[in-house]
Amino acid sequence: MHSNTNKHPVGKCKGCPLNLKKRCAVFSHPKKQWAHGHCKGYMNEALYHHYLAEQMLAPQKNSKQIRKEKMNERKTIEHHDGILNPGGSRW
Ligand code: SF4
Repeated sequence: MHSNTNKHPVGKCKGCPLNLKKRCAVFSHPKKQWAHGHCKGYMNEALYHHYLAEQMLAPQKNSKQIRKEKMNERKTIEHHDGILNPGGSRW
């Protein structure tokens, strides 16, 4: 059962090149796109080529890069007592 907040593509998305199985390449809530009977992105070649062009400009980060960025960001967060977070497993 898909809720409105579910980001997974719905059954009607089957065959769409923008269907990335776990999410839609363009829309954050695929079910909302189909609420009125038709998704404007379904089999839309212009949107698909736009998506491919975006991917070429900014390739997706792998999980290691994402973790590293989060780790570096956490180091900058100040603790409630005013001490800067030194990082590490205890923080
Ligand atoms: S563009 Fe529309 S039909 Fe294609 S995957 Fe996204 S929500 Fe589904």
